[in-house]
Amino acid sequence: MTDNRQSDFVIVGGGTAGWMTAAALARFAVKGTRIRLVESDAIGTVGVGEATIPQIKLFNAALGIDEADFLRATQGTYKLGIEFVDWTRPGHRYMHAFGPVGRDLGLVPFHHYWLRAGASAGPLGQYSLNEAAARAGHFGNAPPAAGSVIPPLAWAYHFDAGLYAAYLRKFAETRGVVRHEGRITQVPLRADDGHIEAVVLEDCTRIDGDLFIDCSGFRGLLIEEALGAGYDDWSHWLPANRALAVPCARANGEITPYTRSTARPAGWQWRIPLQHRTGNGYVYASDFISDDDAAATLLANLDGKALAEPRPLRFVTGKRRKQWHRNCVAIGLASGFLEPLESTSIHLVQSSISRLLALLPGKVIHDADRDEYNRQADFEFERIRDFIILHYRANGRTGEPLWDYCRNMGIPDTLAAKIELFQASGRIFREHEELFTEVGWAQVLIGQGVQAAAYHPLANAISDADLGDYLGKLRTVAARGAASMPGHADFIAGFCRAPSAE
Ligand code: FAD
Repeated sequence: MTDNRQSDFVIVGGGTAGWMTAAALARFAVKGTRIRLVESDAIGTVGVGEATIPQIKLFNAALGIDEADFLRATQGTYKLGIEFVDWTRPGHRYMHAFGPVGRDLGLVPFHHYWLRAGASAGPLGQYSLNEAAARAGHFGNAPPAAGSVIPPLAWAYHFDAGLYAAYLRKFAETRGVVRHEGRITQVPLRADDGHIEAVVLEDCTRIDGDLFIDCSGFRGLLIEEALGAGYDDWSHWLPANRALAVPCARANGEITPYTRSTARPAGWQWRIPLQHRTGNGYVYASDFISDDDAAATLLANLDGKALAEPRPLRFVTGKRRKQWHRNCVAIGLASGFLEPLESTSIHLVQSSISRLLALLPGKVIHDADRDEYNRQADFEFERIRDFIILHYRANGRTGEPLWDYCRNMGIPDTLAAKIELFQASGRIFREHEELFTEVGWAQVLIGQGVQAAAYHPLANAISDADLGDYLGKLRTVAARGAASMPGHADFIAGFCRAPSAE
């Protein structure tokens, strides 16, 4: 038998990725395992990453985190989806809402019935409880009463990324993770197999380990600078390469329970409402706008007073060619970056952690485990990449150089096949474990104006009158369900009331 005693772990980086990894290892590793984390206050973290997708609830639940405590600690709010504004034409808006849209009748996904009904069906979003609640500014997390026809909401969170990392740091340190502060200046490799032997800090502290988890951000201090794993550059498909981030004050008491993404001439602007402020940023392609013009556009489009100078960030969209190379696993920005349009980066941190736990090595690393990890990581990144490219490719903003380029650019075969299938027959299939569901794809394909020439023939099984009746009932259920919920800000105030005040 190979030596499968638990490895000693060294995590490099104390951003969201580093502390999520540390917290998960502390929660699940065999008791007594050495887990050390190195971070440098002087280097700091990327400091953005405030919108999530519903899977984050599974991560928090696996750690045993209480939702109200977490929302209080991170100034968190609920997120029901993402609203896309001006992506197809000025004034147009649609939502990629979480959770179901409509309800399937038998075998055929709901959107086929919607396609069949044509203009009389109205916007697809009317059939989503999440979208109806988001537009009303309402939220409720109670499970539906027995016999209720109103389904539960599906939600994620917006939170302050720095506060989330601090929250997880406390969790991890309480469970034995040892933190080292300082800048790593050397990464010696073993002569025989090129594995990382240790990391050495500026003050000569040396930290040895078996498995090194690179959460050092874009630079990939271990995976790239020390091991040269390589990077697949996807900027020909995802050309945004810079962002400016700025928080602003909230203009009124409302906290909208969704992220907004507004297309701009050279990219798009995010708006993420937290309890204490709103996060904003302009993600743009530097070939198409100057930094000064991007800053001016961002600052001219805030809800309230800017609370800081816009913070510049630079990136290259793509992924590390091998996310696990030798005895180093890259997690977070060190593993790649797909840009934040669908809030997938923190999810990718989470799924990398689950994958690592599923394939966790002992003292000896098996090539087969490493290869399987990389195969799964590649698949996940590529499918999310396709979904994000769809938004750019199917834009309707003619006459603007970035958007004209994107409408005419080549796209990955996997995405081309998905679009062609939908255009031909309205069909969408989720393959294997890909992240986004048929419902998510349907909302974005339809929202971005991709037309289906046909719908599933089995959607003809009910009469026009019955279909009209059914659609009407679904609209009513969504609208009534949303109306019955409290306002989002009121809900948070009640739910997050400090325990001592009760
Ligand atoms: P970082 O935060 O960069 O942390 C790197 C760590 O490594 C730091 O602690 C640093 O001190 C340490 N380090 C580096 N070099 C050394 C060294 N030599 N010695 C010691 N320590 C070192 N994700 C989402 O899910 N939702 C979003 O809405 C979202 N929005 C984003 C918007 C933008 C513009 C960008 C750029 C990213 C966004 N992300 C978003 C991604 C998200 O911010 C990151 O996935 C997340 O913060 C994880 O970052 P990280 O921990 O990998 O890296």
